[in-house]
Amino acid sequence: MPEPGPEQGSAQGPEQVDLLISGCEVVCLDDADTIIRNGAIAVRRDRIAWIGGADDAASRFIPSSRIGGDGQIAMPGLIDGHVHTGQQLLRGKIAEFARRGQVKIPVWKNYYIPFEGLLDPEDVYLSGLLCYADMISVGTTCFAEAGGPHPDEMGRAALETGIRGFIALSTIDHGAGVPDSMMMTTDQALSRNVDLVRRWNGQDQDRVQAWLSLRQIMVCTTELVRSMADAARELGTRIHTHLCEGTYEIDYALEHFGKRPTEYLEEIGALGRHLHCAHSVLLSPDETDLYVTHRLTASHCAFNNYHIGPHALLHMWRRGIDIGLGTDGAAAWGPLDIFQVAHAARIGQQLVAGTPIHYRDVMSGEELLRVATRGGARSLGMENRIGSLEVGKKADILLVECRELDQTPHVDPMFAVANTAVGRDVRTVVINGRVVMKDRTLSTIDEEALRRDLDRRLPRIMERFEQSRR
Ligand SMILES: [Zn+2]
Repeated sequence: MPEPGPEQGSAQGPEQVDLLISGCEVVCLDDADTIIRNGAIAVRRDRIAWIGGADDAASRFIPSSRIGGDGQIAMPGLIDGHVHTGQQLLRGKIAEFARRGQVKIPVWKNYYIPFEGLLDPEDVYLSGLLCYADMISVGTTCFAEAGGPHPDEMGRAALETGIRGFIALSTIDHGAGVPDSMMMTTDQALSRNVDLVRRWNGQDQDRVQAWLSLRQIMVCTTELVRSMADAARELGTRIHTHLCEGTYEIDYALEHFGKRPTEYLEEIGALGRHLHCAHSVLLSPDETDLYVTHRLTASHCAFNNYHIGPHALLHMWRRGIDIGLGTDGAAAWGPLDIFQVAHAARIGQQLVAGTPIHYRDVMSGEELLRVATRGGARSLGMENRIGSLEVGKKADILLVECRELDQTPHVDPMFAVANTAVGRDVRTVVINGRVVMKDRTLSTIDEEALRRDLDRRLPRIMERFEQSRR
């Protein structure tokens, strides 16, 4: 349950609050599926203090600031459960290589990791500013970074932009063809991860935190995986990894360990609630059971996953596995727009689980929105703080346009946010009680200065990258 909010009552006269959003429709996505047609949300400091009708709010509160929500829908911020901050500047680049007929497979080994390997800390900071500004502009208020270079710089960018998130370090201690700058000894891999978590967690701010990370079983030794699992238990933190993402990974596990990836991790004692597994596409029935038994969490990256296999999202969701949605970052095909990931997942699930049995609407847009919010929050261990609009939860709130021509006629706010809305319909974003975007203008970032920095740094980064790929 969320922590109880401050007592409210008009008997003592109007109460002071920091922010009042009123006149909007409110889609709470709470257990009762509360929808308020002319609603209001009061925010005190970083939390939601009150939710109710706009008329009631007018007599109850004296707000320090106010946002009129007329013609808009308030809903919980979206959660991206798997993103690569360090690949933000690669957007469109692999497609360009492909047009030149130059793409080498596998892409992650030939492009993603080498690209991350040539970024210096300032590049990652810039990448972070752009990535988090991009996310905020399409309604993502919390992210989980998969693990990339210079994570402290991601943290710096996240603190500045006002987004909530979990940063992580790319962690590789094994495997051929990995650039020197991305390779660590097993001891270094463990100590750098543990130090990162100790530096970021337990500070006075809790908005930006760090997780441990293991890139993938092919590039992490058994010794490292074991010791990282021990560290996660000891530190009370999570490990972000890619699991059951490709056929190459299944073959690797069968060849080297005689077991499928999740079974191998069970054998070495690495499974537990601490393990957050991106993709999780090629799960055998036994592996799905292991996800349930060990309460593994997962992220469904719909733009990618259906290229790999018929992802069992609906089946996993119904079995109670805590799964949310992810974008897999800007180097993947899609935008960082979780609304669009949800739409893609709806079509994907229909094809996988509905159409073959002549079932017309096997996973609705509304259910996908619950995966994106409540599921996402549970998958990050954040269900008491984010994922729905409820008194006592963190004030991570979107105001979404619903009167554009492509949303007309507007009948049902739940239908609108679940089916017709995309990220660019998000007008205003509040994270941790702070307005970080108002009427599509970011308040924490100077967008022009960011574009100038990109114009200056990006050509040099791409020149280094192109040279390294020749
Ligand atoms: Zn990934």
